[in-house]
Amino acid sequence: MDRRDWLKISGLLAGGLCAMPVLGDPHLILNIPGSGFGYFPSDVHNKILSENPEIRVRLMSNENHYGPSEKAKKEIRESIATAYQYPWTYYREFIEKIADFEGLSADHIIPSSGSSELLSTIAACFMSNGGEVVSAFPTFWSMPEHAVRFGAKWVKIPLRDDHSHDFTTMKKAINLHTRLVYLVNPNNPTGTISSAHEIEEFCREVAPKVPVVVDEAYFDYLPASDRPDLISLIKEGLPVIVVRTFSKIYGFAGLRIGYCMAPPEMIKKLELFKGSGTITGPSIKAAIATYEDQDFKSMVLRKNDESKKFLYRTLENKGYSYLPSYTNFVFVPLDKDGEDFRKKLLEKGVAIRAWELGEQHYLRISLGTLEDMKIFKQAFDYIA
Ligand code: PLP
Repeated sequence: MDRRDWLKISGLLAGGLCAMPVLGDPHLILNIPGSGFGYFPSDVHNKILSENPEIRVRLMSNENHYGPSEKAKKEIRESIATAYQYPWTYYREFIEKIADFEGLSADHIIPSSGSSELLSTIAACFMSNGGEVVSAFPTFWSMPEHAVRFGAKWVKIPLRDDHSHDFTTMKKAINLHTRLVYLVNPNNPTGTISSAHEIEEFCREVAPKVPVVVDEAYFDYLPASDRPDLISLIKEGLPVIVVRTFSKIYGFAGLRIGYCMAPPEMIKKLELFKGSGTITGPSIKAAIATYEDQDFKSMVLRKNDESKKFLYRTLENKGYSYLPSYTNFVFVPLDKDGEDFRKKLLEKGVAIRAWELGEQHYLRISLGTLEDMKIFKQAFDYIA
């Protein structure tokens, strides 16, 4: 793209202008293209559960088997008594807790019912009347698929050979129709990362022209040296939206808490599209109780590492390779049919996911407790 194009885009999109809202067409919602699994993560899980309801180990959704923390559980038990009340005051307390920790003001933050709610809000805000979203491929599909449902185009840029984002090609793919760039770091389903420095540089260069959404669902699994500092860019007012979730390190997948951070003008625009009252009092109180609980986080990271090493050994012993993971799941290339392998494991009560990317098949195995991984090993050794 030449400089004139950049400037045109700046004029159109500086400050993260959202798309004008359009009324949804219910037929679009029923018209689900793509894989047999359907659009939403819940479709995938329901399909797997319907294939075998007798699941012994759930290693299919990157859940954290150690959560929620005891502090969080206590808070839920205690807050049930006041669950007849609307949770507005806790909502405020939650925002202030995050703002305090990140050094932001409260108007930089929106809490949500899991980060999925924000990802669909972002798609609606920027692409409800079309446009293009640029992301790596493969990556977490929920936000771009929502955009496609609104009539937008998903521009997929293959990851580099080392499974990091191909920032150069992503930049070249940006044009006048581009409404958003979506980065997932660490990436799902690969479990791999891009360099913190490259992500910061990319956001600094691209965000003034096209807003960049960075999905940091697995951020807490990263060593400090691999964590990009995007909060500084947000403080500078660059149109960067960082999306985080409590579903992973805090083990809140069933409690549904997430949040995003962005400059206040973008937050105001996103709020126009986000439903209100989607978070329950007990969930948000539990989130306040466990946010940045370093003891709990360290315990989860230690146990996750044990399970990861056990899984690596299990795979190596059978001659399988894997992508070294920065998350609570591992992506495994296969020289056989992934779907067939997944089904055989499921017959043994072990639920995982399979991918087919071009000619190459993969398994994605979430990390459970060591006990879970031993059950996985029994089934895997039998089938592999
Ligand atoms: N983003 C990424 C990268 C994910 O892997 C997931 C879930 O697996 C989500 C977002 C959605 O998580 P939740 O809606 O539970 O916050």
